[in-house]
Amino acid sequence: MTHPAQPKASHFINGEYVEDTAGTPIPVIYAATGEQIATVHAATPAIVEQALSTAKAAQKAWAKMTGTERGRILRRAADIMRERNHDLSVLETYDTGKPLQETLVADATSGADALEYFGGLAASLTGEHIPLGEDWVYTKREALGLCVGIGAWNYPTQIACWKGAPALACGNSMVFKPSETTPLCALKVAEILIEAGAPAGVFNVVQGMGEVGGALVTDPRVDKVSLTGSVPTGKKVYAAAAEGMKHVTMELGGKSPLIIFDDADIDNAVGGAINGNFYSSGQVCSNGTRVFVQKGIKEKFLARLAERTGNAILGDPMDEATSFGPMVTENQMNIVLGYIEKGKEEGARLICGGKRADMDGYFIEPTVFADVTDDMTIAREEIFGPVMSVLDFDTEEEVVARANDTEFGLSAGVFTKDFTRAHRVIGNLEAGSCFINSYNDAPVEAPFGGVKASGVGRENSKEAIKHFSQVKSVYVRMGDVEAAF
Ligand code: NDP
Repeated sequence: MTHPAQPKASHFINGEYVEDTAGTPIPVIYAATGEQIATVHAATPAIVEQALSTAKAAQKAWAKMTGTERGRILRRAADIMRERNHDLSVLETYDTGKPLQETLVADATSGADALEYFGGLAASLTGEHIPLGEDWVYTKREALGLCVGIGAWNYPTQIACWKGAPALACGNSMVFKPSETTPLCALKVAEILIEAGAPAGVFNVVQGMGEVGGALVTDPRVDKVSLTGSVPTGKKVYAAAAEGMKHVTMELGGKSPLIIFDDADIDNAVGGAINGNFYSSGQVCSNGTRVFVQKGIKEKFLARLAERTGNAILGDPMDEATSFGPMVTENQMNIVLGYIEKGKEEGARLICGGKRADMDGYFIEPTVFADVTDDMTIAREEIFGPVMSVLDFDTEEEVVARANDTEFGLSAGVFTKDFTRAHRVIGNLEAGSCFINSYNDAPVEAPFGGVKASGVGRENSKEAIKHFSQVKSVYVRMGDVEAAF
């Protein structure tokens, strides 16, 4: 019998599901059991061509609609997503393995927030009037044209919406390629947009690996590329986009610092560290995986952290009591287990976890290492799994310098009751998305993105509008034209 997660077809182009079984089969594996639940096919060159030409053809008419009309469609899509939150969350759990306890509140809901927020902004995208004596200039905020979105595997619904909603609000069309690991959810986003009234062709989904992404990025019809992925992929995609002078948004990886001063509320700090390391089993780009704890509270912090981490419930992700799911794939599990072994070899002190859980699926126990030093591999590289490194520090000056000593700059957090210090420290940290006495909140109203190698551009908020539109300025002369001859 066909599994309920199996989509009608692999791709969604020009308002309908499209199949081409000549493309390489991509098995969809449910991470909690290792069982194959669906198959899709990578896009063939013919499918890529169909998606790009459709999106190109649909864009101009979409941009000519009023912002109010476009916004209404996006807001209707948001409502449909919320009505179907349960089914969409189940699908997200099948796609990623993340527990339903999380997906019910963090995925379709976050996607709906983006559709609603950018739907609301669509009618407000106006230009300026600039008086110049009798003459004047007016500016218009115009769409970029055809945009490509490429997603990572940790938040397949959210990423499709965080890219699709601002792109469409500004009058662009989009071809979106999900990660081959999680191909299912973006198809539902495309289906819902059509149901909400989006014209066929403005949001299309094609499946495939990096080579399909590469074909999209290098196509001359494409005006913008928005990627969520790792730094190495980001460098490749950014370079390919530069060749065609395309706009880019790069949402890449991190190794973010979370700094806990000795005056912090210990339970809140432990909560922040748990949210910043173990949500989605640690598969979150903004995670605060270098937890710097001031020496005075170190052992107390570790004891409370170990106690609360012991309360994680590993199990069937479809059971709403389960609070901790598997790694997305066997491969990702093995990568993370490799880092755990490195941590042990390089002399970090294992506080809890440290191995694969004794159960079906790709579960790793939530793992905490203490006495981690700056040069250890687990403190330098993005692990993308449930591995927290706790490092000690003495002074503010020292911890800020150490926190910044990384190529990454996605997020940073600080826990302290001294607000003057909190703002000063955040001011000195090299990161795009920061937190004071909190960690990993990502409301659509706030800009999200990194500095240094962690990215270029911002998603969410009014900032995202700037990255999906461009300004045309028009000089208007009221009198005669003077010329030299
Ligand atoms: P990857 O960088 O491996 O892949 C990202 C996407 O790019 C995938 O869809 C991938 O396809 C595609 N891709 C790979 N090579 C190319 C290429 N040459 N041209 C075009 N597209 C290509 O990332 P993961 O999927 O492993 O995701 C994890 C990473 O994403 C982590 O580093 C994480 O930090 C980052 N991330 C960043 C976020 C942010 O907002 N800053 C949020 C979430 C994750 P395929 O995999 O199918 O081959």
